Amino acid sequence: MGSAHTRAKAAPSSRTRVRRVNERARYDREAIFSVIDAGLVAHLGFVDEGQPFVIPTLHARIDDQLYVHGSSASRAMRRLGEGIPVCITVTLVDGIVLARSVFEHSMNYRSVVVLGTATAVEAESEKNDALKAFTEKLLPGRWSDARVPTSAELKATSVLRVPLAEASAKIRTGGPEDGDTPDAELDVWAGHIPLVINALAPVPDPTLREGIELPEYARNYRRPGFTQ
Ligand SMILES: Cc1cc2nc3c(=O)[nH]c(=O)nc-3n(C[C@H](O)[C@H](O)[C@H](O)COP(=O)(O)OP(=O)(O)OC[C@H]3O[C@@H](n4cnc5c(N)ncnc54)[C@H](O)[C@@H]3O)c2cc1C
Repeated sequence: MGSAHTRAKAAPSSRTRVRRVNERARYDREAIFSVIDAGLVAHLGFVDEGQPFVIPTLHARIDDQLYVHGSSASRAMRRLGEGIPVCITVTLVDGIVLARSVFEHSMNYRSVVVLGTATAVEAESEKNDALKAFTEKLLPGRWSDARVPTSAELKATSVLRVPLAEASAKIRTGGPEDGDTPDAELDVWAGHIPLVINALAPVPDPTLREGIELPEYARNYRRPGFTQ
């Protein structure tokens, strides 16, 4: 992968090279990290007994390592912890692209595909750091308010680490691409509709004790990485 300051043109491996519309591909850390950090959901793809599974989960990044976590009883956590190959995908949907023709309709998106193998995290301190990264990724500031995990809770949680060494990003922005084709003469509206994640007003838990103020980070929640 290229340095944080350069836009790497070369894929880190032939199997991570984007083939179609490859001018949308990015292989530099800056692009890959920003998609991973803005994404709320990762999909874990793996094969178990010949059957492919694609399991949605939370994720977090610390430096050049991607972390996922789950119950120690979860099949995905157990199988991936054994070191079988995994493909992790993070997808952000940024808009709908309306072309004059059905054929040219598209979406604006940012996505990352990571290939590799996972390692089960054993050290309590690294597990704790990963849980902090998950929490702070969702709500910066929340870690210092919420009760931190106990040793028993950390034991019941599987944490896996996957290096971000073999990864690609693909990013589409802007409008349709038929403006310089004969279709531009058609009386059909064309353009794009940006989409964002929009938080509504927080709903207090019915058992919340009186007098506990809504924290500022929840009051005006905005997902980082989205323009609103
Ligand atoms: C929200 C969304 C909607 C899409 N809709 C369509 C659609 O309707 N039809 C369509 O053909 N394509 C669509 N794509 C693009 C699609 O993800 C693939 O990029 C596309 O199928 C071309 O793959 P390929 O044959 O070039 O590469 P493949 O041979 O499939 O992949 C080679 C390598 O390229 C990398 N790669 C491929 N795609 C991506 C990606 N999206 N992000 C990061 N790395 C990638 C991976 O490392 C992969 O191992 C969509 C993408 C997103 C995020």
